[in-house]
Amino acid sequence: MDFKKFQPLSVDIGNSEQNLTIGWADGHTSVFPLFGLRKNCPCVSCRGGHALMGQYEPQLFLVEPVRTYKIIKAEPVGNHALKITWDDGHNSGMYKWELLRSMDDAVERLRQHPH
Ligand SMILES: [Zn+2]
Repeated sequence: MDFKKFQPLSVDIGNSEQNLTIGWADGHTSVFPLFGLRKNCPCVSCRGGHALMGQYEPQLFLVEPVRTYKIIKAEPVGNHALKITWDDGHNSGMYKWELLRSMDDAVERLRQHPH
């Protein structure tokens, strides 16, 4: 496993820009639109059951947001995940660093090769 790829150096909440920016140890920067991030919340209730854990929809990062979201708090959980507290109080989503980075890769692929 490429550890640098999944090692975050910085996390910046941009509520006015409606995105979350993560700088990685391998030099890559990921910019996640908040709408897609929230819609892909990895918690059991947002995923719709344990069987769907780990699944996400990269296309939700590319759609026109139908509403805005705000992040109140984004804090690391151990060294494996980021816990996000949203402005409506939802905070059960633990976004694993690997998940975030693979979401970013998937969105990039989708951008380059839209279906
Ligand atoms: Zn959730």
